[in-house]
Amino acid sequence: MTHERDLTGGSEPRIRVLPELVKNQIAAGEVIERPASVVKELVENALDAGATRLVLDLEEGGAKLVRLVDDGVGMGEADLRLAFHPHATSKLADAADLEHIATLGFRGEALASMGSVARCRLFSRPRGAALGAELENEGGKVSAVRSAGGAEGTRIEVRDLFYNTPARRRFLKTTATELARCLDVVQRLALAHVGVGFVVTHDGRRVFDVEAGMDLGARIRRIFGAELASGLVPVGELWQGIELRGYVAPPRFAARDTSRQVWCLNGRPVRDKLLVRVLKEAYRGYLIDARQPAAVLSLALDPARVDVNVHPAKSEVRFRDERALFGFLVAALRKAVAATDMATPGEGLLAVAERREAWSARFAPPSAGSAATTSFEFDRAGAIAERSPLRPAHERQAEFRDAAPFVPEPPLAPRPSFAAAAEPEPPLVIAAREVSARPGERRELDELAGPFLQIAKTYLVRATADGFEIVDQHALHERINFELLREAAATGRVALQRLLAPELVEITRAQAELVDEHREAFAKLGLELERFGPTTAAVHGVPARLAKPDVSALVRDVLALVEESGRAPDAPELFEEVLHRAACRASVMAGDPLSEDEIRELFARGRGLSSDQTCPHARPTRVRFTLADLEKAFHRR
Ligand code: ADP
Ligand code: MG
Repeated sequence: MTHERDLTGGSEPRIRVLPELVKNQIAAGEVIERPASVVKELVENALDAGATRLVLDLEEGGAKLVRLVDDGVGMGEADLRLAFHPHATSKLADAADLEHIATLGFRGEALASMGSVARCRLFSRPRGAALGAELENEGGKVSAVRSAGGAEGTRIEVRDLFYNTPARRRFLKTTATELARCLDVVQRLALAHVGVGFVVTHDGRRVFDVEAGMDLGARIRRIFGAELASGLVPVGELWQGIELRGYVAPPRFAARDTSRQVWCLNGRPVRDKLLVRVLKEAYRGYLIDARQPAAVLSLALDPARVDVNVHPAKSEVRFRDERALFGFLVAALRKAVAATDMATPGEGLLAVAERREAWSARFAPPSAGSAATTSFEFDRAGAIAERSPLRPAHERQAEFRDAAPFVPEPPLAPRPSFAAAAEPEPPLVIAAREVSARPGERRELDELAGPFLQIAKTYLVRATADGFEIVDQHALHERINFELLREAAATGRVALQRLLAPELVEITRAQAELVDEHREAFAKLGLELERFGPTTAAVHGVPARLAKPDVSALVRDVLALVEESGRAPDAPELFEEVLHRAACRASVMAGDPLSEDEIRELFARGRGLSSDQTCPHARPTRVRFTLADLEKAFHRR
C-alpha cells in the first residue's frame, strides 16, 4: 500500500474541506451523466427564460458539442459572472420557495457542474440591451466576463464532455445511442411545451423540428408517426384543481417498454412509477400484461401539492395524497381508452386471420397440393381475394351451433364394444384403452357421422359408440402431422415441396450462420433454406406432407431449437423435436373456427393412428366419457 493511514491521531487534521472543483465534479456525477443530461439542463434553462424558439446543435451524439441558442430574456453581465457559480440561481430566494416550485430549474447546480467536466462558453444579451457579454468555464476555470456582439437571448456551448474525467467518458455509449437519448429528452420537452419551437441538428444535419405553432396533436404526429396520431382519443378532466389533458392511443400501439408514454407535470416531463401504474390500470383488460400503452398526458396542479425535489434530475416526483389522485386518473383515462378504436387489426392480426381462412384448404389431399395451393398460400393479395367472399367467422360459428346441436347416439343402439366382451361394465380407463386399441373401422362408422360441436373454437365434441369424447383440435392435428412427418423421415429423407416463390424470413444474425452451417441437414428434414442477408433466410421448400404450414413461424421455431441445443437439426436427440415443431406450425390452432366438414376431415385423418391419444408432447388429444360414466354421474346406477 502506498497510502499508509495515519491512525495515531496526530496534530494535523485528517478531514479536509474539498476544493471547489472536486465538489462540483462530485455534484456533476448526479446531474450530468451523459450528453442527454446536458441537453436537458440547457433546454430547461432556456424554457425557464421564456424562450419560444430553441436551436440545438449536436456533434458526435453530444459528446463533442452541445450548443443551444435561445431567444429568452438573457442575462446581464452581473448575472453572467454568477452563472457558473455552484448553488447560484435566480429561481429561488429562500427555503419557503422550495415548497412551490414553478420553474424547471431551481438548484443552481447545472451550469457549475457542466463547467467542471467540460469546456463551456456562455454568451448572453438581455432583451433590449445594446450589447451582450460572454465568458468561459473550462474544467472549473472561469474566465472574466467581456463584452461581445450577438443576438438577443442566450447561446451556450458545452464541448468535450468529461474530457477531464476519463472514467466517466468511458461510460458513454455509441454516438447513435447518445443521440437517441438527446432526442428523447428534446421530444418530451417539446410535447410538454406547446407554443415553443425546436430545431435539432446533428453533425450539421437536421434531425428534428417542430414549429412554435404546432399543437399537441401535430407534435405527436411528428414524433410518433401518423398512424398512431390518427388513432388518438383526447382526454380532458378537472378534479379538485388538478387538470389532466392529453391523448391516449389504442391498445395496439402499446410497446414493450414505456418509451411511448409521456407524462408531464406542470411542464416537466417525468418518469414516475405511480403514473406508469395509472396507465396499466386504465388499459387493464384491453392489453396483455407485458405491454405498456402509448399515451401523451399532462397534469397541471398547484406546485405545493407535489414534491419535485426528490432526485437531482427531478424526473421522479412525490404527490401528496397519491391514492385519491390515482383513482381520479384511472377513472378519467379508462373512459378515453374505452373510446379508442380497438377493432382495427394490426399487421399481426391480419396475418392470423389469413391463416385461419386459409385453413379449409389445409386438409386437401397432398396430391392436390403443390402449385395451386402454394400460390394461394404465398400470394398475399390472392389470399385476401380468396378470403373476402367468406362471411365473418363468428357468423358461421353461430349458424353452425344452431344447425348442429350435440345429440348423443340413440340409447338403444347396440354397444359393440361391450356386447362382444361378456363381462360386466369395465371401468373408464380400461374402456378408453380398449376403444382405441380396437381396429379403426369399427368406430369410424359411428364417429364420422357427426353431428359435431366445437366449443370455444378449441374443443370438438362428438358422440362415440358408447358415450362421447372431447378432442383438443390442435393437439390432434399436431399428432397427425407429426406422424406424417415421421413416416416420411423413415425413408431417410423427407420429401420436399418447392415453393413457387421463396419466402423471406427475418432471423437473427446467429441463426443466419446456422442456416449456412446446417443446410444439408435441414434439406434432409424437408426444409430448403438459404441465407439471404445478414438477418434473413430464404425458404425455398417445406416438407411435402405438410399442407399450408406457417412457414416463417416454422423456420424460426426450428432455428431457435437448433440454436438452443447447439446440435445439428438432424441429430438423433433433436430430430423428433424438430419434426414436432414443424408439425405444430402446420396445424390448426386453438381459437381457429372450424366448419363441420373440416371437423369431419380432421377426425377422418386421425382415425387409424396408433397413438392418437396424446400430442407429441404427451398432452392428451381427447377425453372420453362412456355411458357408464354418465350413468354414474346421474345416479342412474
Ligand atoms: P438553475 O436552472 O437551477 O437555476 P443553472 O445552473 O441551470 O441553475 O442556471 C443558473 C442560472 O443561470 C439560472 O438560475 C438562470 O438565472 C441563469 N440562466 C441559465 N441559463 C439561462 C438562459 N438560457 N437564459 C437566461 N438565464 C439563464
Ligand atoms: Mg437550470
